Amino acid sequence: ARRLFLQERRRPVALDASFLEALAAVLGPRGLVTDPADLASFNAEERGLYRGEATVVARPDSTDACAEVVRLCATHGVSIVPQGGNTGLCGGAVAGANQIIVSTGRMNRVRWIDADGCRMAVDAGCVLADIQAKARDAGCLFPLSLGAEGSCQIGGNLATNAGGVGVLHYGNTRDLCLGLEVVLPDGRIWNGMRALEKDNTGYALRQLFIGSEGTLGLITGAVLKLFPAPTSTATALCGFEDLSRVTRLLSLCRSITGDDVTAFELIPRFGLEIALEHLDGLRDPLEGSHPWYALVELSTSRPGADLNEVMESLLGRAFEEEILSDAVITASLDQRASLWRLREGLPEAQKHAGASIKHDVSVPLSQVPTFIERASAAVTAACPGIRPCPFGHVGDGNIHFNLTQPKGMDKQAFLDRWEEMNRLVHDIVADLGGSISAEHGIGRLKVDEMRHYKAPLELDLMRALKTAFDPAGLMNPGVILPATTA
Ligand code: FAD
Repeated sequence: ARRLFLQERRRPVALDASFLEALAAVLGPRGLVTDPADLASFNAEERGLYRGEATVVARPDSTDACAEVVRLCATHGVSIVPQGGNTGLCGGAVAGANQIIVSTGRMNRVRWIDADGCRMAVDAGCVLADIQAKARDAGCLFPLSLGAEGSCQIGGNLATNAGGVGVLHYGNTRDLCLGLEVVLPDGRIWNGMRALEKDNTGYALRQLFIGSEGTLGLITGAVLKLFPAPTSTATALCGFEDLSRVTRLLSLCRSITGDDVTAFELIPRFGLEIALEHLDGLRDPLEGSHPWYALVELSTSRPGADLNEVMESLLGRAFEEEILSDAVITASLDQRASLWRLREGLPEAQKHAGASIKHDVSVPLSQVPTFIERASAAVTAACPGIRPCPFGHVGDGNIHFNLTQPKGMDKQAFLDRWEEMNRLVHDIVADLGGSISAEHGIGRLKVDEMRHYKAPLELDLMRALKTAFDPAGLMNPGVILPATTA
């Protein structure tokens, strides 16, 4: 028997005049967006896969105002889509016509910073790059770093448990958060802004909200962990003849440097070629052509350390052991920035190279070569001429297994095969004990995949949590959980 989930049974509620009047009274003119021209950016979606239809965006400037908005929505039965920087890649911040977006962009204060204690407290709407800069000004490091850091907000990072390029050393966003403040779906405010490393007083509630993509509550503030600023950093681009050598280099890096490997990113030759073709100001950093590349970064906060020396001897050893074919160590900040631009520009370069079908998956590190080989063979057999571009945070076992359309194929005809390609790739991921969403979340994009790849017991537990936190199903309905279960 198929059981309808709560969200599906709710009928969409029209936004009536009395609700809108009450909302305007709470928020004032600066806090309410209803002009179609101003709504456009809130209704846009990063990958162009969805088009939002929201006619109302609430922009509260404080936790209390957020709570009043949420309470009002609860009274009127209006569902809420939380939105931060709107850079998410799974359609989780897209709202329908009868929902309202609650945007945290005006809540952007750093509440306090304790450099000695390595902690800071921020509003949810602080832009990630601003938090990094504030931490730097205080002589510290906030290590969360990703391509969208100039516009994504910490509330969105927490809601998606974002990963990025520093996970290998510092962990995901959930590892960087000590405390949380959340407006619950009925409008109550949960103050969990503790700055404690140790707190074993029962269930870790904040961990439930982290990664919940706005389905359990609206995050309004967070206490973040800071780290000592690095004193030495070394960056290199390495070329390899096959994938097994890439993971061997990671293992060598770890055995030689201990815990100093802070980034280890995979780039395929195809990715390098499209980046050189479509992004301005880049040149091939290595002379020969290699099927695979890795961007490797070491960093430490140990006083007096010189990681360039360590990198040189490490790469020397890798040459001796025939792991590496070629490598270059950056000699200036400009060179380092240009290597990172090459890596972080890959999604942009792909847009120029044609339509893409994307997968954000992880497998155990030892299975990365097998996964890439098997998945590339499967999609090529199904769609000859397809151009796989597997890249990303390979040190975490996280591959962005992106597929560029065959040359000359109609874009839409290629995109129509999205589900077929997902099935081929995700079946291999599941077979290797991996995850169909390593870091981007589920959003609306992967809800159906949850039915295929998440155990029924896990889905039942997740539904029980959803019902406990949000019995009326008003927080971001349709995100994460499939509407029905077999
Ligand atoms: P939004 O897109 O606004 O929202 C994302 C989800 O979180 C939605 O479900 C929304 O409802 C919910 N949400 C937002 N704010 C709140 C809140 N305050 N309370 C409750 N729920 C909320 N992601 C990675 O993990 N690693 C990467 O390396 C990475 N690189 C990227 C590079 C580029 C160029 C781009 C465009 C995106 C990248 N992303 C990456 C994806 C994206 O940047 C992250 O998911 C980011 O954490 C989203 O933050 P945001 O503020 O834009 O959230």
